[in-house]
Amino acid sequence: MQLPEPLLEKLDDIRGFDKEAFTKAHEAAAVTSIRLNPAKSTNAFGNSEQVPWCSEGRYLPERPVFTTDPLYHAGAYYVQEASSMFLSHVIQQLIPERSNLHVLDLCAAPGGKSTLIASLLGKDSLLISNEVIRSRASILEENITRWGYMNTWVTSNDPKDFGKLKGYFDVIVVDAPCSGSGLFRKDERALDEWSESNVQLCAQRQQRILADVWPALKEGGILIYATCSYSQQEDEEILDWLGDDFKVTSLSVELKEEWGVIKTVSKKHEFKGYRFFPHKVQGEGFFIAAVRKNSDEPELKTPRFKSGHDSKVYEQCKYLLQSDDWLCLPGKEGYMAINNKHEQDLHLLQQHVYLRKTGLQLGTPVKNEWLPAHEIALSMDKSQTLPVVDVNKEQALKFLKKEDAGIDGLEKGWYLVSYAGLGLGWIKALGNRVNNYLPKNWRIRMEITDADWA
Ligand code: SAM
Repeated sequence: MQLPEPLLEKLDDIRGFDKEAFTKAHEAAAVTSIRLNPAKSTNAFGNSEQVPWCSEGRYLPERPVFTTDPLYHAGAYYVQEASSMFLSHVIQQLIPERSNLHVLDLCAAPGGKSTLIASLLGKDSLLISNEVIRSRASILEENITRWGYMNTWVTSNDPKDFGKLKGYFDVIVVDAPCSGSGLFRKDERALDEWSESNVQLCAQRQQRILADVWPALKEGGILIYATCSYSQQEDEEILDWLGDDFKVTSLSVELKEEWGVIKTVSKKHEFKGYRFFPHKVQGEGFFIAAVRKNSDEPELKTPRFKSGHDSKVYEQCKYLLQSDDWLCLPGKEGYMAINNKHEQDLHLLQQHVYLRKTGLQLGTPVKNEWLPAHEIALSMDKSQTLPVVDVNKEQALKFLKKEDAGIDGLEKGWYLVSYAGLGLGWIKALGNRVNNYLPKNWRIRMEITDADWA
């Protein structure tokens, strides 16, 4: 791989950089890693090596075809680059108390950081996972649904739209669009597209994004900023720019030396950041830093509203969920459940941003029965007493392809299709046949061979 010389020259004075070792590391393949979903336990990766800074992270010796693994479709894990899992360590160190928080993941698609954050928050906290590009927002929504948390909502807005939610968020994560040099091993396009002028453009865009969203962070709130670029213009210099234009304090986290993570300090304000080099860690290039906001924002007016909770419908569908701390509200299609602490948030957010996904879709009452939404099958909140049909890998993959999975002998009714104890979707047994309720756009499209069934 021919690395851009102007990039290598600029990195020369950075702590931890070693041109020869860095270049050599780029001759090796990218590392494959996954992060387990603590709400959906599986022992499928029991022997895999743990990512040092993330208790749920696992390295895989080779890259499997994830599409043919039903556990992937069940949301048992997320395929995520190991260095970026360091966000887990940053959050755990800087935010030990994680209940009752409003958290924004501003640049969220496809959902790696959001699923990580969701796993760390208490049930009564609310995570807004935002992606401005509409096509990417649908992938994000799918990944968030698969992860199964009722308190992760998806929006699709420009950062400046959040500026109107003054002082609303306790934590904002900006995993900024960047020049992508940290991903050269994973994505050859990043190498083709890299240029000094693009680094400059990205740095300007990063400043614009941060300035636009800044009012939404409350006084004392924490901004976590990350990129997958090695360039100081997008990393340390952005921290210095924050120090120049806003009232902030730099925050630091503890490191273990054997991790190989490099602590860096910005030139002007001496703000701390953390760098990941592929010759130092088992992972790709990454930068992360955190600051606390010291200036206040005028208080946000919360709207008056009448609760939309429908207690009659709640009675009809409460069998679907295991707890009772939720409200039943009319949703996009049928009804949805939200945590009963979040109704005011719903009304407030509705006024300012486009909500693509809120809470958990429950489904629709049809005649004398309830048509359950697909989301319930993937939700960690679903009742443990729903009728279940356990399937093997072949049946699971056939179900996910919307082919005949050979499930028969069932009494009439709705069943959750479960693989290794994790929900995949719904079927309805009609006596003489079984209907597959997996939404069409969720089905596996790739060819699956006999070897994949094993
Ligand atoms: N956080 C994601 C994850 O962990 O899976 C990766 C985010 S990626 C580094 C940056 C994201 O920012 C992309 O999804 C991109 O579409 C989005 N983006 C691009 N331009 C943007 C802008 N002007 N404002 C906000 N987000 C933008």
